[in-house]
This record gives sequence, structure tokens and C-alpha cells, in this order.
Amino acid sequence: MTRCSEEKKALRREIRQRKQQVSEAEKASLSQQLCRQVEQLPEWQEARTVLLYHALSDEVSTRELLQRWAGQKTLLLPVVDGDDLLLKPYRPQTAMSPNQWNILEPTADTECFSDYQAIDLALIPGMAFDKDGHRLGRGKGYYDRLLPRLSCPTIGICFPFQKVEKIPVEPWDIPVQRVL
Ligand code: ADP
Ligand code: MG
Repeated sequence: MTRCSEEKKALRREIRQRKQQVSEAEKASLSQQLCRQVEQLPEWQEARTVLLYHALSDEVSTRELLQRWAGQKTLLLPVVDGDDLLLKPYRPQTAMSPNQWNILEPTADTECFSDYQAIDLALIPGMAFDKDGHRLGRGKGYYDRLLPRLSCPTIGICFPFQKVEKIPVEPWDIPVQRVL
């Protein structure tokens, strides 16, 4: 293992520890605040098609955005397909099922969304971000493969304790443009 991937592993461990010190109630409240902040962004207000994600229990929850906006914008959710992420539209009536990490995804019979040019904004989860938009994921590189396909603004979203001074970067790591 390279020095850089060792450092990433150590940082993931550190972030997991920090997360455990924040209560569920506090994370729920922070998630709510962050959703409100997203709704204030001009990029959000103008966007018709937005890539969101369904959070793991320790990530910023986008549930409110999904609930409030599914009827008004085209909201997309990633679906794990081998080493890649497929995108599928989320509508209030979309059937959802948990994947191998217990993240809810639109079910297999939901049609895929493949018009990547039509995506106006992407909100990207992460274990940690630094001020330059470098992103630490869970170590599978899913978003490093998805981000190059997007031509829209990309905004990382995380709790304050997930902001770090510097994230070790490997050649394939793709940063986001901004972090909330
Ligand atoms: P994460 O971004 O989830 O924190 P890493 O950046 O550590 O994860 O990447 C995990 C693995 O994914 C790496 O071992 C790397 O080989 C692979 N990977 C990332 N991006 C690509 C890519 N664009 N093409 C092929 N493999 C990739
Ligand atoms: Mg990466």
C-alpha cells in the first residue's frame, strides 16, 4: 500500500471517531440546516435536474430535499452497479430498496438516467473534504469515476467535523468545485 493510501485510511479512521462524538440529534439538526443552505443557493434554485444521494446514517441527510422537491425538480440518485454508479430519477412514488451498504436506491426496474449533459447541479457526499475541494470517500473511488462524466457545478456536502486542512490526493482523485 502506498504512503498516500495509508494516510487516507488513517484519516477515514479519524473521521469515524469524530463522528461518534456527535449525537444523532445534532447530526439531524445539522443536516436540516445544510438542506436549508442548499435551498438558498442560486444554483439550486435555478436547477431543473439535480444529482443528490441517499445518505448513510452518518452522512449529511438529504431526505428533506428529496421529500420537498421530488415533485418540482428531477432529482437523481446514484445506484451501485459493480464498480460504477448508475443514476436513476427519484420520484415520490419510486420504489426503493437497500443496497449492500444499506443505502436506499431506486429499485432495479427504475429506468436509468443517461443524459449527463442535462444535470444542472450535483451534491456530492464524502467522509471528508478540504478547502480545495479534495474529497475523501469510503475507499471505493465511485465518485472519482462518476465526476468526470458531469459538466455541471459540483458541491461537496459535509458536517463541520468532516472539514480537514488537507486531504492526501492520488492521481485519480477528482475534486468538487465547492464545499458546503
Ligand atoms: P475514495 O475516492 O472513495 O476515497 P480512493 O480515491 O482511495 O477512494 O480510490 C479507491 C480505488 O478506486 C483506488 O484504488 C483506485 O485504483 C480506484 N479508482 C479511483 N478512480 C478510478 C478511476 N477513474 N479509474 C479506475 N480506478 C479508479
Ligand atoms: Mg478518491
